[in-house]
Amino acid sequence: MERKNAWTTYSEADLTKLDAICAEYVGFLDNGKTERECVQRTVEMAEAKGYRNLDAVIANGDKLNAGDCVYVNNMGKAIMLFKIGSQPLEKGINIVGAHIDSPRMDLKQNPLYEDTDIAYLDTHYYGGIKKYQWVTLPLALHGVVAKKDGTLVNIVIGEDPHDPVVGISDLLIHLASDQLGKKASVVIEGEELNVIIGGRPIEGDEKEPVKANMLKILKEKYDIEEEDFLSAEIEVVPAGPTRDFGLDRSMILGYGHDDRVCAYASINAILSIEEIPEYTCCCVLADKEEIGSVGATGMSAKYFENAVAELINACGNYSDLVLRRALTACRMLSCDVSAGYDPNFAGVFERKNAAYLGRGVCFNKYTGSRGKGGSNDANAEYLGKLRKLMDDANVNFQTAELGKVDQGGGGTIAYICAAYGMEVIDSGVAVLSMHAPWEIISKADLYEAVKAYRAFMLNA
Ligand code: MN
Ligand code: MN
Repeated sequence: MERKNAWTTYSEADLTKLDAICAEYVGFLDNGKTERECVQRTVEMAEAKGYRNLDAVIANGDKLNAGDCVYVNNMGKAIMLFKIGSQPLEKGINIVGAHIDSPRMDLKQNPLYEDTDIAYLDTHYYGGIKKYQWVTLPLALHGVVAKKDGTLVNIVIGEDPHDPVVGISDLLIHLASDQLGKKASVVIEGEELNVIIGGRPIEGDEKEPVKANMLKILKEKYDIEEEDFLSAEIEVVPAGPTRDFGLDRSMILGYGHDDRVCAYASINAILSIEEIPEYTCCCVLADKEEIGSVGATGMSAKYFENAVAELINACGNYSDLVLRRALTACRMLSCDVSAGYDPNFAGVFERKNAAYLGRGVCFNKYTGSRGKGGSNDANAEYLGKLRKLMDDANVNFQTAELGKVDQGGGGTIAYICAAYGMEVIDSGVAVLSMHAPWEIISKADLYEAVKAYRAFMLNA
């Protein structure tokens, strides 16, 4: 059964709210091209709404009560926001969870070299990318350099309109007859993702004068040495701002909609809750989803569980049993993007079960690949309850799976949280050109995601 286009349902008041949400989202994306930048921005937004760092609450020995708002910053790369409800934590938490890492290229630990009078930075790509999409684009460098003295140097080059940009060259068409005969997966290979950063030699008789000039510029501007790259996390991302897309401005072109569009919708939803919710609400923004939710900041780490333990303790009745009951009783939306149906590539989609741009927030009962492998596969009873909840809140929603059976697939953080025995379902925004440097979403779907996540936190 076909779901209606959300745009046809909007009043003037809806459109005003939609425009405000999308404008704030564009600012969030422009200031959040790395997981670290997203955490920083989220902390600012949360503190502006009165959220306190849970570390400070613990250090002061403060108690938490219904209506209190706290956040947990995990290494500056993952974050959780909690708003304490009137029911005890043992009754579960209404969780919306998204990820804030996006596909990109990371600088290697020894990145800098000179070849034939050009200075380069060598990269290792992060997440699933079509490597050929990342050449001949203006690119920016975002990240941090951790110096031996403990200071952290922030780097953003290529975003200010007066900044230079960097980038990767491609072979000219005139000499590409061999290249054009290759499979797309090897047209550009991983070791060819070398970022050009300079071409002017320093004065004097340095052996590698262009590289030496780069090091001089880095020293002057950031007070860093070549060896400091050893302890740096610098991400190479598309340079430039998020843009309205389409003559009707119905869409947004941006880097990292996967999954910052769901992250933003989750933040907006929890920060919009002024009343004391019945159940504690949580927005968790994880790192490392694109490489398997690994590491201390990925969803597989125990920070969510540990935070819930601390909350129970700060509410005054911690025990291991209460913690286990709280985790099992949670309800969760695993908020991640869906593949938007693309008429240009109709053959990979199954039309009855595809996500369409503009038809609202998407629920995926299961993801995975090859016979639902690796998926969460939500319970029918839970989906039934959510259908009512969404209808009651006038949310435009659709259901989908990722492409035709056996065409490919993908996973999310859903199964990790489901391991506690809580109810989880995937829910997100449809994206065109997912994992490309510039991805496309419909503004209507973002608006519906915000409505859906807010309704979920208040009523699930
Ligand atoms: Mn994702
Ligand atoms: Mn992804």
